[in-house]
Amino acid sequence: MAQRCRGILRHMTAGHRTPAVPTALLAERIRRAGDVAADHGIDLLLVTPGTDLRYLLDADGASHERLTCLVLPAAGHRAPPALVVPRLEAPGWAGLPLADLGVEVVTWSDGEDPYLLVSDLAGGPTRLAVADTMPAQHVFGLREALPEAAQTLAGPIVSELRMRKDTGEVEQLRVAGAAIDRVHARMGEFLKAGRTEAQVGADIAAAIVEEGHTAAAFVIVGSGPNGASPHHDVSDRVIESGDVVVVDIGGPLPSGYYSDSTRTYAVGTEPPARVQEAYAALQDAQERAVAAVRPGVPAERVDAVARARLTDAGLGERFLHRTGHGIGLDVHEDPYIVGGNATTLEPGMAFSVEPGIYLDGDWGARIEDIVVVTDDGCARLNTRPRDLIVL
Ligand code: ZN
Ligand code: ZN
Ligand code: ZN
Repeated sequence: MAQRCRGILRHMTAGHRTPAVPTALLAERIRRAGDVAADHGIDLLLVTPGTDLRYLLDADGASHERLTCLVLPAAGHRAPPALVVPRLEAPGWAGLPLADLGVEVVTWSDGEDPYLLVSDLAGGPTRLAVADTMPAQHVFGLREALPEAAQTLAGPIVSELRMRKDTGEVEQLRVAGAAIDRVHARMGEFLKAGRTEAQVGADIAAAIVEEGHTAAAFVIVGSGPNGASPHHDVSDRVIESGDVVVVDIGGPLPSGYYSDSTRTYAVGTEPPARVQEAYAALQDAQERAVAAVRPGVPAERVDAVARARLTDAGLGERFLHRTGHGIGLDVHEDPYIVGGNATTLEPGMAFSVEPGIYLDGDWGARIEDIVVVTDDGCARLNTRPRDLIVL
């Protein structure tokens, strides 16, 4: 293999960097990814920078026009894993424990064809799985270099690993949940009549960072009629006393793991009885859906429980999205809590339970907690009160 390999750096070490993920755990992930790939009939996994690469190597970094790619043969293939990197960027990868992981670093220089390099490393694969987020230019470059090979997506393979969080990952999600809960606990400082959604959102974004996130990845402040749009952002609408306001916020921790929590607030005064009644049904739907989470239950069952409760309350048509999404290094990942997903819940799976109701032109509400499946049920990672709190 690797006739065209140049500059193999065999002695890259972790240097002074303390890796967040233990090297032995990364080695186990790489081994298991190879096993799952083999189970799926794949010869080679090709993973460009993104959250799958972060999971496998604890490596951050972005993808661009120069190919950087983990070349990971499936179990049973003789070639060792390799990290193909542009020569000018090799120093940036020197902090990773690649030697300990048995990952060879293979550099290429401008003017060379990195796809032929991958082809040589691969030694004639017939079924490639490419990272879901690999840029199309690389996908097509690989297709030209390996015209005989079938390409499929690596997402379903890596997600079989990523879906079940280990104890370290659950701990990071727990830290993230506590951090976003502290922001919701401060909502009275930010959310007041007479301010615009954008002003409130800017304060929330600053608080998200103050409480330990590296960034505010999303801040939804949906006041009054804007609350009826589930993925509203912020606007210049001035919040009025009597508004119901959906606040859906989150972001990544330095570990890369995300928070995501929604609470709905009433500003200035108790909302009218019709709003309180509908909200009570929503709160009960969320409660029942969380109570339905345990090992052995299909993901779609959790969605069905929330939906049935809202349908009984005459609000089924107003619940216009799935009940939840997995969360980890991505804010939306497997398993999705949606009708048609028969995936069986297992300990370690982490996802949101976030039913909502949306009354066009009027108001909306959503309640969202992240939960982790335990041996006999689930643990909520968001613990702020779920009542319609008047601020
Ligand atoms: Zn969403
Ligand atoms: Zn969510
Ligand atoms: Zn959310």
